Amino acid sequence: MRIRFWGVRGSLPVPGPRTERYGGNTSCVEVSSAAGTRIIIDAGTGIRRLGKELMRGEFESGKGAAHLLISHTHWDHIQGLPFFAPFYRAGNKLFVYARQRDDQNLRSVLSLQVDSPFFPVPFHKARADVAFRELHDGAHFEINDVVVSCARLNHPYIATAYALSADGAKVAYIADTAPFSDILFGQEFIAGPPSPHSLLSKTDHKILRTMRNQVVRLCEGADLVIYDTMFTPEEYRQTPHYGHSRPSDAVEICRDAGARTLALYHHAPDRSDTEVDALLASTRKEAKVTTPKLEIVAGFEGLDLALGKG
Ligand SMILES: [Zn+2]
Ligand SMILES: [Zn+2]
Repeated sequence: MRIRFWGVRGSLPVPGPRTERYGGNTSCVEVSSAAGTRIIIDAGTGIRRLGKELMRGEFESGKGAAHLLISHTHWDHIQGLPFFAPFYRAGNKLFVYARQRDDQNLRSVLSLQVDSPFFPVPFHKARADVAFRELHDGAHFEINDVVVSCARLNHPYIATAYALSADGAKVAYIADTAPFSDILFGQEFIAGPPSPHSLLSKTDHKILRTMRNQVVRLCEGADLVIYDTMFTPEEYRQTPHYGHSRPSDAVEICRDAGARTLALYHHAPDRSDTEVDALLASTRKEAKVTTPKLEIVAGFEGLDLALGKG
């Protein structure tokens, strides 16, 4: 199984000299099995370059097939889709998966972002065959030779974590999520951080505990866990209601799950290359005490990993 990172940034693209090494594009990771199943997780702006690369192969002649798993439909996870070249070539097949919502179906959410006057090409002008599959929390299914499992995450309007197993290897993708401790996010907007003295209800505690257990189970024995580590501890204290985690949260999940490697991911837009280096170094230092066997890397555009047999 081969994993390639095409976009590692959260919130919005931030090109420029401060982000040259890790990259400024938003969330997109490609997973390919040895048998040739191609899965793309999230369609942030990183998917644009992936699309260009795919057009050098069978997608150019309209014979390509890809499966796109969307964690949630915040801009930084879908904004690259209108610039994904295989989408506009007849014959290509694109299967799009995301969590089912009560209020809107997946197709209408994705077509909204390219409706006039936001974009010149409406969704129905896509010439590829596009099929949608809406998922429930805890869904478990196969895409050819790849087994996919899902879990609910703690994020405004709710996001989905995915684990993919193939070729004797497993990768888990967890973006975006807050820790499972201070706020329970659902479909409603949370305007500010909870007051220091407010306590979560027993029911919310229980829901968060169950959610965390399911995320740990999803990551169990994973060779690679890609995790939202957007915040430093100080940033988290200021904006816990934004729905993102700290590196220590990711390390704890990996420890409990017995995962082998953690990739820090969804870097904050203001985090420069040297600051990501520093965050990686401090995370490694702290994890050495609690989780000595865990390898930690920071995701960057172009990071290419081979797991298991293929
Ligand atoms: Zn995000
Ligand atoms: Zn989000």
